[in-house]
Amino acid sequence: AGSLVSQSIPATLGTRVPLVSGPDAEYANLDHAASAPCLRAVRDAVDEFLPWYASVHRGAGFASQVSTKVYERTRDVLRRFVDARRTDSVIFTRNTTDALNLLARSVPRHTSVVLFDTEHHAALLPWRGPNVRRVRTPRTRLAAVSAVDSALAATPEGPRLVVLTGASNVTGELLPVAEIAAVARKHGARIALDAAQLAPHRPISVRDLDVDYVVLSGHKLYAPFGAGALIGRADWLRAAPPYLAGGGATKAVTSEGVAWNSGPERHEAGSPNTVGVYALGVACDQLAEHWGAVLAHETELLTRLRKGLEAVPGLTQLRLFDDPGDEVGTLSFTVDGFEPGWLAAVLSAEYGIGVRDGAFCAHIATKRLTGGAQAVRVSVGLGSTAEHVDRLVLALRQIVARGARWTYGKVDGRWAP
Ligand code: PMP
Repeated sequence: AGSLVSQSIPATLGTRVPLVSGPDAEYANLDHAASAPCLRAVRDAVDEFLPWYASVHRGAGFASQVSTKVYERTRDVLRRFVDARRTDSVIFTRNTTDALNLLARSVPRHTSVVLFDTEHHAALLPWRGPNVRRVRTPRTRLAAVSAVDSALAATPEGPRLVVLTGASNVTGELLPVAEIAAVARKHGARIALDAAQLAPHRPISVRDLDVDYVVLSGHKLYAPFGAGALIGRADWLRAAPPYLAGGGATKAVTSEGVAWNSGPERHEAGSPNTVGVYALGVACDQLAEHWGAVLAHETELLTRLRKGLEAVPGLTQLRLFDDPGDEVGTLSFTVDGFEPGWLAAVLSAEYGIGVRDGAFCAHIATKRLTGGAQAVRVSVGLGSTAEHVDRLVLALRQIVARGARWTYGKVDGRWAP
């Protein structure tokens, strides 16, 4: 895939896949929103680091020193990547879900939480209790801002937190983050930005947006699995009980009790994922260095994709909002008369195209936008090319023209040839 991408874009690893009939094909990766393919630069950096990884903060040995330096320096890389405040904490987690659960465990007791009901389950589900207010997502961004305003006005006295995704993992539409952050500020509330889908596509400035927390996942940022981060205000995190109890989170342990660390290590007990954290940092630096090319590539592909899909008979693209706004390279659609799971299976087996089908861990959003059904999601990124997009559009036109021939059966609940 890399050779078709502009030289100035950090290329991803390419692959070929078997088809049910005919020769194999270059894999058309149109599933970046699930997990983005690894950048070559990330692969090379990890390769160099592998002989040196060791447990951090644990020993005087050279490898441990190298690992500790790399691990601690990556906190600064993340802080820079999201333009965080100097005083913000950077805590490494397994992924966005882990980071949001950590935040949910760290907010003061009786914190009122306001969020939209169309959020990804990772953002929707960690909050429990009577102080959680799920707001039905309105049909315009403008109304979304006032909906948060009204919800916050109705919350009781005490700490308040708004949880908001930066970009929908279903439709790719951006949420009005800065406007909602301003409303939060007006009510003395904090705001946490779920940047799992935004961070791979847009530079983020915590300071310009005026958000309190940002969470993200390495595997959506062109690094392999296993590392994510929670970046934000240190006070609640410092006061919260350790997320995990164990080695590394403590200053001292005696028969009488435990003195926990107050820095990020407080929530990072156990041997951390040094390699994953390093990979995440390298990916962030690569994106930061190449934003211009990344954005140009994605805009071109998204425009081509939306236009191509408009010409497919019976295809409806899903949208959360009726008012125009920015969007990343992710979209979902339904096609009249075709089951999304079956479409995705045919695209994979006959055309070598990877997409996602289902409700995308955002069941309320997907069901609402499809009238109770599921959808196909296409997401472009650095591992996608114009040829992949054209192949998808052509495939859909051919599939629709020939009709749903059910030569596929269900294996383990999924359609297969
Ligand atoms: N939030 C959003 C908006 C997402 O798209 C995802 C991943 N689909 C998550 C959170 C959860 O990310 P992870 O699976 O890496 O924890």
